[in-house]
Amino acid sequence: MPQIDEAQVKARLDERIRQIEERREGLRRGGDGMRDELADYDQHPGDQGTETFVQELDETTSMILDEEEQRVKDARRALDEGRYGICVDCGKEIPTERLEAMPESIRCLDDQRQFEAMLRQRGGDASR
Ligand SMILES: [Zn+2]
Repeated sequence: MPQIDEAQVKARLDERIRQIEERREGLRRGGDGMRDELADYDQHPGDQGTETFVQELDETTSMILDEEEQRVKDARRALDEGRYGICVDCGKEIPTERLEAMPESIRCLDDQRQFEAMLRQRGGDASR
């Protein structure tokens, strides 16, 4: 395992899961306050005035949240099983800086890029 503070990583992952659940809850209630964050995900919001757009946006957000939650939970499980910090694809250690920047990383940078390229090709249907 790379040199990481396990307790700290665990706390950060748990916090991440909590945040995701909160955002999903907000989404379910049709809550606002999420729109700003969505700007990060969608560079071309189009016509923001239509109901259709808002609904599509919610579906997109929901999908992103699912994918993110899955990733955080995978990392959390890896931590429990003592294989945290090991790339799930190539089996090499993930650099500590990457883990510190993104504690939910379960792939090295190269494999993450490949994985994301593959997801895009499949139309964003994440890990299913
Ligand atoms: Zn790898």
